[in-house]
Amino acid sequence: MAHLDPLLNDLVIANRILAHEEVVDAYGHVSVRHPDRPDRFFLARSLAPELVTHDDIVEFTLDGQPVGQESRALYLERFIHGGIFEARPNVMAVVHAHAEDILPFGIVSATPLRPVIHSGSFLGAHVPIWDIADKFGDTNLLVTNIEQARDLAKCLAGWNVVLMRGHGFAAAARSLIEVVRMAVFLPRNARALLKAHQLGGQIKYLSQGEIDARNRGYGPYSTETWRAWEYWANKAGVGNLVTRPDGTKT
Ligand SMILES: [Zn+2]
Repeated sequence: MAHLDPLLNDLVIANRILAHEEVVDAYGHVSVRHPDRPDRFFLARSLAPELVTHDDIVEFTLDGQPVGQESRALYLERFIHGGIFEARPNVMAVVHAHAEDILPFGIVSATPLRPVIHSGSFLGAHVPIWDIADKFGDTNLLVTNIEQARDLAKCLAGWNVVLMRGHGFAAAARSLIEVVRMAVFLPRNARALLKAHQLGGQIKYLSQGEIDARNRGYGPYSTETWRAWEYWANKAGVGNLVTRPDGTKT
């Protein structure tokens, strides 16, 4: 599986960036779909993302079961990833996190979390809110089985991000780079929106035209996208793991 090494390195980098940018802490995780087996994905064993290395990556089927024999503890909420990969064939990477700045928007629907800053455009024009209680009643709020994950994926539908009431968010994208970028800018957009709200007056969200114009310039491996990935990876101390899109090392 040596040909998977660059992808698994990218998954390690993604873990470290999300930890360093404080999107995740002891909890939260990021996954990537298997490039040759769309019915499988890679995700770390139960470990804080800051500590994840290549050896901690586990291969899973979409129903959240490890492919090989696995005696190590696994993330309780690994089903989130499988549920979204199953529902969205074009999604290649998923992040789940509990970033504090987004939480108020999952609790109160009066002020929707939508893009208000240029880097927030990646969220898309609408961010649905999923409430686990709607279908599953009183739970511990965690997504601990595939049925709950499928219900979450249904609420995410074709959008990029779904807020999970009183819990966190899940984000889905075409690549690890894109899902990390979205997860990093999501709390920043939430902070700007919350502060703008405190100032009073009407909130001016990005228009659909502005969101479209931004997204046209940012492909998965465009110079602008790559620049952020390289910067964040170095800042997180894993610049040595970065492989350029053409296969060369940085
Ligand atoms: Zn969670």
